[in-house]
Amino acid sequence: MLGPKINNWDLNRAKWLRHNPGFPNFFSGSKPRVLLVTGSSPKPCANPVGDHYQVKAIKNKIDYCRIHGIDIFYNNALLDAEMAGFWAKLPLLRTLLLSHPEVEFIWWMDSDAFFTDMAFEPPWDRYKPYNLVFHGWDHLVYKDKNWVGLNTGSFFLRNCQWSLDLLDAWAPMGPDGPIRDEAGKLLTGFLKGRPVFHADDQSAMVYLLVTQEDTWSDKVYLENSYCLHGFWESLVDRYEEMLENYHPGLGDDRWPLVTHFVGCKPCGNFSDFPVERCLAKIDRAFNFADNQVLQMYGFVHKSLNTSSVKRVREESAGPASAPDEVSRVLYPSLNDTN
Ligand code: UDP
Ligand code: MN
Repeated sequence: MLGPKINNWDLNRAKWLRHNPGFPNFFSGSKPRVLLVTGSSPKPCANPVGDHYQVKAIKNKIDYCRIHGIDIFYNNALLDAEMAGFWAKLPLLRTLLLSHPEVEFIWWMDSDAFFTDMAFEPPWDRYKPYNLVFHGWDHLVYKDKNWVGLNTGSFFLRNCQWSLDLLDAWAPMGPDGPIRDEAGKLLTGFLKGRPVFHADDQSAMVYLLVTQEDTWSDKVYLENSYCLHGFWESLVDRYEEMLENYHPGLGDDRWPLVTHFVGCKPCGNFSDFPVERCLAKIDRAFNFADNQVLQMYGFVHKSLNTSSVKRVREESAGPASAPDEVSRVLYPSLNDTN
């Protein structure tokens, strides 16, 4: 368990919201109050250049969150010694849900996931009946039991009792050591396509949804109409083509909201892909996104493969973003090009 059982969170949170009108719950409007949560290990990267990529990764998230009015929390403390690595998000999410009653949704995002559409706003209204939203496909999870039927690198979790209960149901395979090792064997036997390794949070989530479908599935939405998570390999070599044909604000594989470097470990030693290739592709994703930000200030990267920039607009006094340019980048729906 992640902590003492809590039973009355919905009531307590509602009370808190009533007594703290200075922290409005924005969900009465079209946009809920969202806290983006991400983090990394307390230790320096085994591969020193990895820390430089952590800076790029958090800079990218700060940009998206500033533009969209989303709060951000970066964690690099291990809150529960047993829940190291990819399991660290569970105790962290519980703590943040309880400590931020003003927040309606937590948006967890892995450190190795980059926003690549700075204009796309998730369709929050669609999620009103749901408490948990992953990128994924119902048939791949519930029918195929596929371990990549959903992705836990970027998801929305509503602040409610249901979510606290879900975190407790999700956690038991997490403790480092024999529990995690044994659970890994169970998951590999049960799930389609899963390699042999210790239990991970994504497999455990698929397992939970399949084995306890009646308990959880009605509040879980698997999104695939845009890239809440997007697998990097099929995206990173197409950015020039996207620039040629499309525009920010689409969010899907024409202009993906998120490019997630699954299996790349720029910080560590064990990577499923050659680290040099990963780093070069992360640079491309970062620069693709950064161009959408720099353009507001009159700059752009000389190419997607270089950190150096050039000026594309004369400096002028006034708001950071020329209205016509920012509207084109950030509010494509206002333009007839959509
Ligand atoms: N993470 C963390 N603390 C740690 C290790 C990992 O918060 O000590 C987070 C980090 O944001 C990382 C995520 O857990 O991106 C999931 O791990 P990873 O991205 O390596 O898994 P993958 O997406 O490649 O399966
Ligand atoms: Mn990841």
